[in-house]
Amino acid sequence: MSQWQDRAAKVYMTTNKRVPLTIERGKGVWVWDDSGKKYLDFVGGWAVNSLGHCHPAITKTLIAQSKKLIQTSNQFYTIPQVQLGELLVKNSCMDQVFFCNSGAEANEGAIKLARKYGKLKRNGAYEIISTEGSFHGRTLAAVAATGNVHYQENFLPMPSGFVHVPYNDIEAVMSATTEKTCAVLIEPIQGENGVIVPSKEYMQQLRKWCDEKGLLLMFDEVQTGIGRLGTLFGYEAFGVEPDVMTLAKGLGGGVPIGAFMAKKHAAVLTPGDHGTTFGGNPLACAVGYTVVDYVIKRKVLANAKKSGARLTKGLQKLQKKHRFVTEVRGQGLLQAIQFKDDISGDVLTAAIKNGLLLNAPRPNTLRFMPPLVITTPEVDEGMKRLDTAIGEVAKAKGLK
Ligand SMILES: *Cc1c(COP(=O)(O)O)cnc(C)c1O
Repeated sequence: MSQWQDRAAKVYMTTNKRVPLTIERGKGVWVWDDSGKKYLDFVGGWAVNSLGHCHPAITKTLIAQSKKLIQTSNQFYTIPQVQLGELLVKNSCMDQVFFCNSGAEANEGAIKLARKYGKLKRNGAYEIISTEGSFHGRTLAAVAATGNVHYQENFLPMPSGFVHVPYNDIEAVMSATTEKTCAVLIEPIQGENGVIVPSKEYMQQLRKWCDEKGLLLMFDEVQTGIGRLGTLFGYEAFGVEPDVMTLAKGLGGGVPIGAFMAKKHAAVLTPGDHGTTFGGNPLACAVGYTVVDYVIKRKVLANAKKSGARLTKGLQKLQKKHRFVTEVRGQGLLQAIQFKDDISGDVLTAAIKNGLLLNAPRPNTLRFMPPLVITTPEVDEGMKRLDTAIGEVAKAKGLK
C-alpha cells in the first residue's frame, strides 16, 4: 500500500471499494501510478474520458476559459453554455437542454420534468416505469428509479412513484402502465448491470407504446451518450427517438458536466421549476463543446466503431481459448465478458499486475470502456494483457 492509501484510510468515508492503486497522471489511453508504473486504461474513468487522459484540446480549452470566466451563476447568460446547447440540439433529436453537473442530477431533472408533464398533460399522473437491473445514480430519486434493492435497502423509505419491470420485456411495460403512469425511463444499454443489450424490436415497441398512451419515453444516456456505442447518442443505434434524454459521463471528457434534454412537446419546465448554481458553468460548457465538437469532426465515432469491432473480435478470441468465458456482449466501446464463475475480481487484480486497468461491475463480469480514441493496436495490446491475466487466474484456480 502506498502512503496515499494509508492516509486516505484515515480520512475517507469508505463508500467505495477501491483498488489499491494510486493514479498520478494520464496521457491518452495510458495512466501512471505513484511509483511510475504504466497501465493501459480500459476503465476510462467509468466511460468518462472519451478523448483519453489530458487530451491537448481539453487542456487548451481549460486554460483559455479559466483565464476568461469560470462561473457566474445562471442569473446571466454565458457564451459557452449557449454554444454547447446549440451544438447538442443541432446534433440530436432534442430541442432544449438544461445543464447540471452529473448523471444523477440529470436524471433528477428528467424525473421532475416527467412529473410536471404528468401534472399538465396526463391528469396528474406521476408514476415512472423503470427497469430491473437499471442504474440511474445515487441521489434519492435516482436511487428510487434504479431497479436494484442493493442501492436502496439502507436508505428506506424510498421516494414513491417508481415501478420496476423486467428489462427487454415489452409486455411487462404494457401491464405496468396505468392512468398513474407519466413516463418510461430506460438505459439504451444497461451499463452498470454488466452491459445488457436489449433488442431493437423492444426499443421500437417501447416507442410505439409510449406514443399510444401519451407517455414520455426517457433514455438515460449518461453512459451510452457521446459516442460510446459508435453513434453520437445511443438511441441512434436502435433507430428510436426518445422524448427526453440525460447525458453526463462522456460529455465533459473528465470535467464534471451533465445535461437533460427534451423535445419541444416534452419541455414543460418553466421559470422557478428547477435550477442549479454550478450547472452550465462556462468552464465545463467550454470543455463540453470541445469534446462534442472533436467527437463529431475528428472521426471519433468511426474510430469507436472500428476499435469496438476489434475489441469484440479480441474478446471472442479469448472466449475460444478460455472456455470458462461464457459470453461476450456489448456495442461500440461498451463491452463485457462473463465468466462461468465469480472470478472477475481475481482477473482484475491479475490485470493490474500486467499493466491493464479493468472494471468488474459483477462478480462474474468484466466491463470494457476505454477512451473512444483508442487505436486498434492499443486494443490488441489490451487483449494480450487480458489474456495473460485470465491465464494466470485459470492456472491458480485450475479452471479449464
Ligand atoms: C453513471 C451513471 C449514472 C450516474 O451518474 P453520476 O455522474 O455518477 O451521478 C446514471 N445513469 C447511468 C446510466 C450511469 O451509467
